[in-house]
Amino acid sequence: MGLLEGKTALITGASRGIGKALAERFADEGANLILTDLFYDENAKALEADLSAKGVKVKMYASDASKFDDAQKLVDEAMKDFDGIHILVNNAGITRDTLLLRMTEEQWDMVINVNLKSAFNLTKAVQRTMIKQREGSIINMSSVVGVGGNAGQANYSASKAGMIGFTKSVAKELGSRSIRCNAIAPGFILTEMTDKLGEDVKKAWADQIPLRRGGTADEVAKVAVFLGSDLSSYVSGQVVQVCGAMMT
Ligand code: NAD
Repeated sequence: MGLLEGKTALITGASRGIGKALAERFADEGANLILTDLFYDENAKALEADLSAKGVKVKMYASDASKFDDAQKLVDEAMKDFDGIHILVNNAGITRDTLLLRMTEEQWDMVINVNLKSAFNLTKAVQRTMIKQREGSIINMSSVVGVGGNAGQANYSASKAGMIGFTKSVAKELGSRSIRCNAIAPGFILTEMTDKLGEDVKKAWADQIPLRRGGTADEVAKVAVFLGSDLSSYVSGQVVQVCGAMMT
């Protein structure tokens, strides 16, 4: 029996990278899946078909996680197709990296809205369902730069640090309803997001990591399975760093 049998998970930004790896692992563990991304395109349809072939119920929705009304509409729509939502993964995220001297207001607002406001939007949208179920695990995809900061990423680091404060507050507020909330802080993970960095930058990152390599999306997904499952039934309000000891 899979670790997530009988559970339904909502994962935002699931069409590629870490979100896609999470969807694959969660399906392997028996979870039904409500997946979102900005577009419902051929790639999304193919992912839906691949995951459904694992024997779980999967539906992908086009939904902008940074928009409050989209999140509410998504959950209303999904509740027509699924019996509940037991796991929420706030994974959708973007970068607009540049030094503070050059950072525009638009670059700041976009990153805060997509990375941080989205976690508020989706948590608000699922909280009634989770409270009624008296069960829920919320996982927020933060980052080690939300813990330690990073030059050239003031907007991104602030959004990821904000997610940590949000995680701890939700854990304290909804704990009495048996809802847990944790953050994952990945380090340098090899996905399309980090692929756009130059080879020299990627090598410099790897050289600073005690495990001497970037992580894989699946290595993040395995931690999300733990946090989503009953294996972590007494773990809440925590930040789990998945970074090869980079931030220690
Ligand atoms: P990615 O760019 O490969 O994938 C992000 C996905 O989110 C994409 O499919 C994108 O279309 C989707 N998305 C973007 N804006 C959205 C929106 N408004 N609504 C819905 N979906 C949206 O990124 P990734 O590397 O897989 O990162 C996933 C998460 O992990 C992000 O929150 C990122 O900040 C975080 N993270 C990544 C790394 C890393 O090294 N890759 C490290 C730390 C944290």
